[in-house]
Amino acid sequence: MALTCDCPMSQPGPTLASTCGGGAFMLFMGLLEVFLRSQCDLEDPCGRTQFRQHMDSVYDFIVIGGGSAGSVVASRLSEVPHWKVLLVEAGFDEPTGAQVPSMFLNFIGSSIDWGYSTEPEPAACLGEKDRKCYWPRGKVLGGTSVMNGMMYMRGSRKDYDSWAAAGIEGWSYDEVLPFFLKSEDNKQVDKMDRGYHGTGGPLTVSQFPYHPPLSYSLIKAAEELGYPAGELRDLNGEHHTGFAIAQTTNRNGSRLSVARAFLRPARDRPNLHVMLNTTATRILIDETTKQAYAVEVRNSRGETETIFANNEIVLRSNEGIIQYFIGKYIGLISLIFNLIFNNIIFEPKIIKCRPITKIRLDNFKNNIDEKLIEMVW
Ligand SMILES: Cc1cc2nc3c(=O)[nH]c(=O)nc-3n(C[C@H](O)[C@H](O)[C@H](O)COP(=O)(O)OP(=O)(O)OC[C@H]3O[C@@H](n4cnc5c(N)ncnc54)[C@H](O)[C@@H]3O)c2cc1C
Repeated sequence: MALTCDCPMSQPGPTLASTCGGGAFMLFMGLLEVFLRSQCDLEDPCGRTQFRQHMDSVYDFIVIGGGSAGSVVASRLSEVPHWKVLLVEAGFDEPTGAQVPSMFLNFIGSSIDWGYSTEPEPAACLGEKDRKCYWPRGKVLGGTSVMNGMMYMRGSRKDYDSWAAAGIEGWSYDEVLPFFLKSEDNKQVDKMDRGYHGTGGPLTVSQFPYHPPLSYSLIKAAEELGYPAGELRDLNGEHHTGFAIAQTTNRNGSRLSVARAFLRPARDRPNLHVMLNTTATRILIDETTKQAYAVEVRNSRGETETIFANNEIVLRSNEGIIQYFIGKYIGLISLIFNLIFNNIIFEPKIIKCRPITKIRLDNFKNNIDEKLIEMVW
């Protein structure tokens, strides 16, 4: 690890010190931050995504939301050099402190979290005020992958197959598996189930190098109780359940957000423009053709701009934007109509489930499934 970096530091926030409770911790966190930021592979000033101050007025594809899914989609689309792609993200670049996996709780509730809460729950969140659960969602390049638990879980075969059975072409597990393999660089591929893992992709996957003694005790306890368990049981292979020391999306023990994995390698592509601190506020739909043709955004200077799309608008921001559009601009029926029949791409989960105006825990499974697109592209 080099201790000096050749490129200027960008200092994306929030700092670790600003996310902790104060007092003695602040000093410790401040020192930790200085240490982290002197590690070039963590701060990565030379490899970070390059951002634009100004957008062009027309793109082939506009991707809204630079989170887990949006980062992948923008990266993959811009592999085609003659397609001009715009990615708009409401938040800023990811803070260096978030690269420390165990610090993820610090960033929940910070300025890179949208800070949603659920509606009052009849049988959950009973210890919370008004029985509303806190619902973290990343507002940052990389989205919730900057503050999640990092477990590499693809979702269950049954879910994909049920989408395919419901008529969503190309989404059976056997059909999406090649894309999982393409994305993955599994560092323990020889120890996993054969045929279920790939190497050489941008998403580095392995167990964390350090396993606390408690993890072995838990596996032993599960075995004693008769559950399928094993230190290297593959939860993305033949089976999806059981007890294991999970594989995570880490690189040398640090967090590998989806933006770090997919967008940073694309930083030099002239056909990919990334705008930060830019919030999509409206999708413009042609009254006659019912085609989405432009996006209105509030840019980092607080100005409203309209950007036109030649091909497609990919809406992959988190639940908030759906709530926003439904509530403010588009009637429910026309939204669903447009999602299905026009050129707004949504993953099957969104098409299938009722649009979320209020997040409820009974919809939890659908929310979990949203991560699939980040893996399959
Ligand atoms: C605490 C926690 C732990 C988790 N642990 C795991 C785990 O261990 N393993 C796992 O696989 N999954 C985990 N998840 C779930 C996983 O992180 C999410 O499913 C996934 O990141 C969602 O990806 P996404 O692209 O749908 O949304 P996000 O990653 O949230 O991205 C949405 C992006 O859109 C942006 N955006 C929103 N509105 C606008 C707008 N109007 N204009 C522009 N941009 C906008 C947001 O700022 C954000 O960057 C966890 C989630 C949480 C909260």
